[in-house]
Formats: sequence, structure tokens, C-alpha cells
Amino acid sequence: MSTSASPQLIAGVDLGGTKVLASVATLDGQILATDRRPTEAEKGPQAVVQRIIDLVGDVCRVAGTTPSRLKAVGIAVPGPVHQESGVVTDPPNLPGWHNVPIGPILSDALGTPTVVDNDGNAAAIGEHRFGAGVGTRHMLYLTVSTGVGGGIIINGELYRGASGAAGELGHIIIEADGPACGCGAHGCLEALASGTAIAREARAVLASGYDGILATLCAGGEVDAEVVAEAADAGDRAAAEIIARAAHYLGLGLATFVNLFNPEMIVIGGGAAKIGLPLLAPAEQTMRKVAFPLPASAVSIVRSPLEDDAVVRGAIALVQAVARNS
Ligand SMILES: [Zn+2]
Repeated sequence: MSTSASPQLIAGVDLGGTKVLASVATLDGQILATDRRPTEAEKGPQAVVQRIIDLVGDVCRVAGTTPSRLKAVGIAVPGPVHQESGVVTDPPNLPGWHNVPIGPILSDALGTPTVVDNDGNAAAIGEHRFGAGVGTRHMLYLTVSTGVGGGIIINGELYRGASGAAGELGHIIIEADGPACGCGAHGCLEALASGTAIAREARAVLASGYDGILATLCAGGEVDAEVVAEAADAGDRAAAEIIARAAHYLGLGLATFVNLFNPEMIVIGGGAAKIGLPLLAPAEQTMRKVAFPLPASAVSIVRSPLEDDAVVRGAIALVQAVARNS
């Protein structure tokens, strides 16, 4: 219990495979300072943890505080987390991380309590508390990026399941004999509709000797979902077909979610979602054709208004209750 006049502050950290973002906020979630740095994941867990400590220290300085004066810090990580112990297990985008107790390590180093969760859950809470989902009771968040992930809000609360592993929306199987997925299964939504899947299809088309606009745009550069979308926009037929196919699969995934959860809203974020209407409009059409009419009529499909800030806002939301009760 603090008796000082200084405001009580909390922080959120979004640890991603390529960048770390940290924000300091008031207890009601108003952001006072934010900064980001490259993760430099290739340097291994110790170096990354030190970068987080330095970053939180710097953001605190801008906000006029110190890490040990924060009430709590929420940390969102890109992989499975044992929430109670704060241990992150084998995140696919952080090489060398195996059962890293990131919660306790950061609590010790920063001198303040921490709460750890995965980034899909954090983004879902972020959108529900601060974004498109404010006021909804039943909401899903789906990120369509290099992977496909998400989080489930039921009755206004994040649904974590029996072992905290619920919400892997990207790993419902859409095509039994589909392409291999990073999780080891075949034909997951992630293997068919992610940015990585779109890029993989484009590379296959290019490898067959295709010489349309897509080939010109990709010459000498990286093949990613954005360049495929750009080619489609410029009238490339093969690129448009790739996007349309990914959109169809995404629509089948959305239909399954609508039938399972009957949500009021599905918020879609992530890099590939920035392709926007060419991906999302046909996906929504497919969902409305395939899903049961009653739940389909109740759901709106919305692009994430928080975009890249959804996860860090969720990390802040994770600790609001902890901070208020401490
Ligand atoms: Zn999978």
C-alpha cells in the first residue's frame, strides 16, 4: 500500500520474435511512455532478457519512475506459457528458449511482480479491454501473421482451458491432407491461410517458371504475403488466386469458430490482416455461407483497431487487476 502522492503505474511488455515493445501505463490503462527495440533473438535467452530489462528501465525513466516502483509488469511471449510459474516452453520464434522461467527472472531483476501469458491471449484481452471488443461478452481475437493465433473471451473473461493451452485457433485442421504445419499436423488453418502459407504458394508458382507481375515484383527480393497482395492488386491472376484461396480457408476457419463459440465479434489482427479487404471480405463471405445462420447473424468481423499495440495493451490489462489488489 502506497501513501505517496506519486501515481501508481504498471507496465506491459510484448516480446516478439523480431521486436520487443514496452509501455508504462496508469492503473486504468492510460499509456504514458512506449519504446521498442529489435529482439535480436539469435543472441539467445540471456541477451534477450537483458534487453527487456534495459528497455523497461528506459521506458520507466521517460514515464518518471523506476521498475521497482511499478505495481506489476505484464509480459506477453510468443509461445506456450505455464501461467502460474511464469515459465515459457519452446516458443517457435525464439531459438534456444526451452523452459525459461521468464516471469521469476524478470520479477527478480525488475523488483516487481510479473504476470506472463502468451501473445494471442494478451491480444484478445487487449482488444476486449481497450479495442474493438469493448462492451462485448463473447469475442474472439484471431491474428493472421507469419502464424495464425488467437484468444477466446467468454462471458467477458479470457478462456484458458484445463492447462492454459486453449485458444490455438490457428491449429484447427481444415484439410486432412493439406500442407505440413509447424505444429507437426497437416492442413491446419495456419498452414493454409497465414502469411507464411501465402508466401509458400507464391514461391511454388514462381518455381514453376511463372513470369507474370508477381515474378517481376519478387525478382531479387523476399517473397512475402505483402508482395503477393501487391501483385494481386496490380492485376496478377496467380497472385489473386493465392489470396482468394487463403481467404477461402480463412472463411472456413471463421465458420468453425462461429459455430463453436457463437461470438458477437471476431477481431482480426496481425501482419497478413493488413492485406485488408482482398483477404477479409471473401473470408467473411465464405463464413456467412458456411456457418449456421443463427450464430452467423450475430457476429461481426472487425479488423483490429489496436493493430501492433494489441499485445502490449493486453500485457497491461493482464496486470491491472493484480496491481489494484496489491
Ligand atoms: Zn498446426
